[in-house]
Amino acid sequence: MKIHHLNCGLLHAPPNPRASCHCVLIEHAGRLALIDSGIGLDDIARPAERIGRAVIDAAGFQFQEELTAARQIGRLGYRTTDVVDIVLTHGDPDHAGGLADFPAAAIHLSAEEFAAVSAGRPRYSNSQFVHAPRWVSHPASRDSWYGLQARRLPLSVEAEVLLIPLFGHTVGHCGVALRVGGRWLLHVGDAYYLRIELSTDDHPVSALAAARADDDQLRRGSLRELRRLAKDHADEITMFGYHDFSEFPGEVSPAAL
Ligand SMILES: [Zn+2]
Repeated sequence: MKIHHLNCGLLHAPPNPRASCHCVLIEHAGRLALIDSGIGLDDIARPAERIGRAVIDAAGFQFQEELTAARQIGRLGYRTTDVVDIVLTHGDPDHAGGLADFPAAAIHLSAEEFAAVSAGRPRYSNSQFVHAPRWVSHPASRDSWYGLQARRLPLSVEAEVLLIPLFGHTVGHCGVALRVGGRWLLHVGDAYYLRIELSTDDHPVSALAAARADDDQLRRGSLRELRRLAKDHADEITMFGYHDFSEFPGEVSPAAL
């Protein structure tokens, strides 16, 4: 199994720092799975229709075709139909825009997030879902992982992947745990925007995170759990989020950032 860290989009709304769209590509035996999907080709072709001017301006969406997951996977020598699974932390437009570029993929997400997306809640962009994605919704389970609930995903790609509910940013927002060798990667999605939130609330981005949360009490609870994991299990878990450029491993080429 090979893991690629891909930056599949760029957001910049000063004075906030430039934000990445940190997706993970799992490659195994000629099949691919993605964690989150970034800004997609259709978003770039029809931004106002797909995302809307107000959201584009507020979040600072930048549109660069070469950053899309579809183009990056092409540069690795694969076709978009080789992506058989996408695990979605949540349905916000900067995470879900690439879904339509991968027609063969099953889209895994929590049952709570699926319900919110299906209800057409205004924070989501319905036009990103009109291609009828093949949703696979995962309800609560009795499994646990380091004291958190876990939902084991039956992916077509051979990989041990768990949805870890980290609710609050959206009603069904989840992290994604991936076993790599003897360790775990934990993609926390938007449970924090910047890694500094693991150590302090006294940062301008904390106000943004609170403002963007569907349920800020739940968001704070999820962040507390991540702080616990970072403190007690740093030797077993490598944690990173979607928007903090500093969290890309060193081998990611600057061109991809
Ligand atoms: Zn986001």
